[in-house]
Amino acid sequence: MQTPLTSIQGFAQAILDGTASDSQAQQHAASVIHEESGRLTRLVDDLLDLARLDAGQVTFAHAEVDLNALVARVIDRLSLRAGEKSIQLENGVRGLPAITGDGDRLAQVLTNLIDNAIKHTPVGGRVTIRGEGRGDQVRVHVEDSGPGIPPDELPRIFERFYQVDKARRGGEGRGSGLGLAISREIVQAHGGRLEAASAPGQGSRFTVTLPAGLPSDSTLSRRKP
Ligand code: ADP
Repeated sequence: MQTPLTSIQGFAQAILDGTASDSQAQQHAASVIHEESGRLTRLVDDLLDLARLDAGQVTFAHAEVDLNALVARVIDRLSLRAGEKSIQLENGVRGLPAITGDGDRLAQVLTNLIDNAIKHTPVGGRVTIRGEGRGDQVRVHVEDSGPGIPPDELPRIFERFYQVDKARRGGEGRGSGLGLAISREIVQAHGGRLEAASAPGQGSRFTVTLPAGLPSDSTLSRRKP
């Protein structure tokens, strides 16, 4: 298997032994090393994050979270990437009741889901975030107009390292296969669920369901007025 380290070693070797002889070849080798070391960093970060979650070493904040503002912030951060692919990134989340949890960790989950949606949606497509407050539950849906996920693969995408298109190489497609596993751990730690629905050719929908409600007074991290 071609791992990031294999590529880094190979291209560094090419610079050292002169195989990458002209400046164009050296430039190419350097850019591969740069890209692959970034990928390696993300992989190590994800592995450490998952190991800490498994070991119960992650402390989650137990504060009031405004999902309306949180979704808007995540969308704002990803709008540039969506724009590069002329993808319409629509925010249909408003009026959701407050929940209790760790805002940074929930932002990590939504970033992973929206980033995946953008990654898998073809140029000119659409990614829509919708919210639903139902009784004592709050839902956030991330829907895309991408190729969808085959029914037999759907239950497996939350497994560690699982990637539907294993043969895919290069560019933005090269993830670690750990994002959804981490996201599901985080959502479950909030007493919630992370689920996916998809029909091939009709896009995918990822749904985060979280318990609604404010932190109890004893644990409330009060915001400044
Ligand atoms: P990564 O994105 O690093 O591969 P993830 O755990 O985030 O890892 O996703 C696992 C796999 O699930 C992806 O490799 C992809 O095959 C599939 N997947 C995730 N989100 C989508 C989506 N919105 N549309 C189609 N396939 C998806």
